[in-house]
Amino acid sequence: MTALACRLPGRWGRRHGARCLRCQAAGARARSTARLLRSLADEIVPAPVELAPAVLQRIGRQDARAPRRELVRQMAGRYAAAGGVTVATAAAVATGLIRRRSRMPV
Ligand SMILES: [Zn+2]
Repeated sequence: MTALACRLPGRWGRRHGARCLRCQAAGARARSTARLLRSLADEIVPAPVELAPAVLQRIGRQDARAPRRELVRQMAGRYAAAGGVTVATAAAVATGLIRRRSRMPV
């Protein structure tokens, strides 16, 4: 059997999987993983102690009255930087085109 046959959907895939050892092994792995994940569903993993300070440090200073202000300021800075790069690139391309035309023989 080919790998293509192992990917058949629906009824054809089930019919193929009943005979293909490769598909049966993949199904057994999937069932085993699902069983393992179900057994971990009720497990509560405590957050590391340093997580909260690290997150607070990462998000920076916040204004409780306008919590989005800092994010908006950061985004505006990024857009301004991207705009500056775009304008500089366009100016460089335009300069190159103008120089090329001025060197071309008439
Ligand atoms: Zn197969």
